[in-house]
Amino acid sequence: MMSYLDNNATTAVAPEVAEAMQPYLHQQYGNPSSAYRIGREAREAIARARAQVASLLGAHTDEICFTSCGTESDNAALRSALETQPERRRIVTTTVEHPAVLNFARRIEPKGYSVTYLPVDERGRLDMQALKDAVDNSTAIVSVMHANNETGVLFPIDEISTLCKERGAIFHTDAVQSIGKIPIDLKGMPVDMLSLSGHKLHAPKGIGVLFVRRGTPFESLIVGGHQEQGYRAGTENVASIVGLGMACELAANGLHKESARLAALRDRLEQGLISACRDTRINGDASCRLPNTTNISFGYIEGEAILMKLDAAGICASSGSACSSGSDGPSHVLRAMKVPAEFIRGSLRLSLGRYTTEKEIDAALAIVPGIVADLRRLSPWLPGRGASCFGKSAE
Ligand code: PLP
Repeated sequence: MMSYLDNNATTAVAPEVAEAMQPYLHQQYGNPSSAYRIGREAREAIARARAQVASLLGAHTDEICFTSCGTESDNAALRSALETQPERRRIVTTTVEHPAVLNFARRIEPKGYSVTYLPVDERGRLDMQALKDAVDNSTAIVSVMHANNETGVLFPIDEISTLCKERGAIFHTDAVQSIGKIPIDLKGMPVDMLSLSGHKLHAPKGIGVLFVRRGTPFESLIVGGHQEQGYRAGTENVASIVGLGMACELAANGLHKESARLAALRDRLEQGLISACRDTRINGDASCRLPNTTNISFGYIEGEAILMKLDAAGICASSGSACSSGSDGPSHVLRAMKVPAEFIRGSLRLSLGRYTTEKEIDAALAIVPGIVADLRRLSPWLPGRGASCFGKSAE
């Protein structure tokens, strides 16, 4: 049996989604820009999907632009804000954003833009005073994620978007991890742009959305034909768009009930691991985070070693962000939270999803404590073993 506890990395495509996509991979292959029947039908399918996405978000259909992924949506939002307001040359963001935002900001910094990276506290919460101090009339865009992919910690985008509106700055949120997991209603919130990604909510990989509120100045990242109302050129990925529409409809149905189910399973997993393993801590504000995510650190051992043993036991997890695995050193998110040196490398992200069962949680509870105990027996870093810790305390 496999326990898949890495739903923040990606999710399984829902059977209903795969079924809805099928016709558009076979007989319904028309180009949505074509005038004849199969073209018209593809166009109508996209319109239906747009309505399904808009309904989940509380948006108008003309505010939904399909993109190729969450990364593209983030890049498009930031690039557009800079291009449409050339007199404003500052980006305000956080130290814990996904690389889709952070690396964009780093790329444009040497080109005459200034970037403010807002700090978080040891529970991963944003310093709201620093945000207030940073946003001024030179700010083109404030980009703050809704939920952190590594810890699940939620940022108060309602409050932040209101502040940005008062200061005249465009507000973008990367909601890739929150959409489909917790309710959102953009009708009552002055968010100007929002990114989401299909593969985090049981649609395929390679499809995303950028929400652009009516009236927000916009320049497209990808130029060419007039698809997506001129917001994004390129022949539409019809099958994946249809799949994403279905995924949004599925997510909307029973969202509250599913959130509560996930939170209960996650809490059982977390509490079970804390009581079975000494020297363990939860990273992130436990009172304000996604219902499906726990980021847990086992002191004095390496997360990568835990992952390898978990893999051998059929458990899929992550020791940080899947998107940054392969990069050196501990996660930038945990470093920003100043997780103590003896804990920062032993972190494990366990993220649940719609298909997570109690059996999978039981399997993890049966296996993880033994792995932690085995690794600790070998660990030179345990207090009293002589070796100094994993280097200096995290910056
Ligand atoms: N933003 C966040 C918060 C994410 O977690 C991810 C993916 O892990 C992305 C953006 C990138 O989305 P995509 O994989 O669709 O490019």
